[in-house]
Amino acid sequence: MPEIQRRRAVTVNIGGVRVGSDSPVVVQSMTNTDTADVESSVQQIAALARAGSEMVRVTVNNDEAAKAVPAIVEELAKKGWSTPIIGDFHYNGHLLLKKYPETAKALAKYRINPGNVSIGRKDDDNFRTMVEVAVEHQKPVRIGVNWGSLDQALLTKMMDENSKSATPLPARDVMMEAMVVSALDNAAAAERYGLRRDQIILSAKVSGVRDLIDVYTELAKRCDYALHLGLTEAGMGMKGIVASAAGLAPLLLSGIGDTIRVSLTPTPGGDRSEEVRCGQQILQSLGIRSFMPQVTSCPGCGRTTSTYFQELAERIQAYLVASMPEWKKQYPGVEELKLAVMGCIVNGPGESKHANIGISLPGTFEEPKAPVYVDGKLFTTLKGDKIVEEFQVILDEYVEKRYGRVLVEV
Ligand code: SF4
Repeated sequence: MPEIQRRRAVTVNIGGVRVGSDSPVVVQSMTNTDTADVESSVQQIAALARAGSEMVRVTVNNDEAAKAVPAIVEELAKKGWSTPIIGDFHYNGHLLLKKYPETAKALAKYRINPGNVSIGRKDDDNFRTMVEVAVEHQKPVRIGVNWGSLDQALLTKMMDENSKSATPLPARDVMMEAMVVSALDNAAAAERYGLRRDQIILSAKVSGVRDLIDVYTELAKRCDYALHLGLTEAGMGMKGIVASAAGLAPLLLSGIGDTIRVSLTPTPGGDRSEEVRCGQQILQSLGIRSFMPQVTSCPGCGRTTSTYFQELAERIQAYLVASMPEWKKQYPGVEELKLAVMGCIVNGPGESKHANIGISLPGTFEEPKAPVYVDGKLFTTLKGDKIVEEFQVILDEYVEKRYGRVLVEV
């Protein structure tokens, strides 16, 4: 696969995780627990980290949340998690960061929303205060512009100027330009107040796919700050997943984006880690990073009239998800493994031969046997009602043999 030429961006160190063009694109996520509830927050952060989130953001919206942050970081460390924790601030971040220096110290990065940090003020004292705290504690910041909370004074000024222009632009274009200007102006101000370029990340999030592509393409052209990429308020389920993939893919393929977050709305009581797996899958589908063995399975058709084939594909997928936390430690490179689970003889043997391990199940009216291919060659043929279990044994043995560390006797 041809290499993607990453846009040159200054590399930022966030609590030991490097973000920028010299480093792999980082997957991050955000909790939805009450940050003041230390136990629930620790539990969710650990789950996100276990799923592969390389940084986790928490909201720091009031005194209780700010007080809880050092305890959260400490508890995570006790459990063996050193995942950098990022503080998400709006409106009162300048007050909280000054009032709680231990929180300012415990966080690995601060997210500042320039659209609401100095709301109701004529100057940027609040923004300046936050940047000065970051400088004091040597923490990077993300200047995170969001079109839902875009600096209204800036937007009004730009709209007014546009309306007086001889060739006014559509309002949408002015809005996109205001996002870029807000991010760049605030980054320049942060540098004036003492942050280095390698302590600044920018984002300009919108909820429309085409808008996202346009705004980041423009932002990428006009600066070399590291960029945090994400579709804001992506939505629920399939809509959120598809929209995020559609928006992020063209940018990532153009080399734009140094860290990503997929902002899915979970179902009530749903698994927050879904957003981590979705981000990983986007990167892996594009051939940018590998996180999980990939299962190629056919959609099934009239040749697979029972649900047996779907059940097998689902069980293998679940087995991989469950095995990966251990496999990652024991079997370096296992995330590159490719499996095929196919429904019948039409494409089954062919697709199976392209995978490391493939199984071609019997379609309707085919002889009840399932040939298994390993590294392109017929390995065995499974029969009977223990096909899944026997396939898992073949899988385990292959993983051990191919990715197991060679022990050297001394
Ligand atoms: S491999 Fe067979 S079962 Fe699967 S979609 Fe193709 S024809 Fe249908």
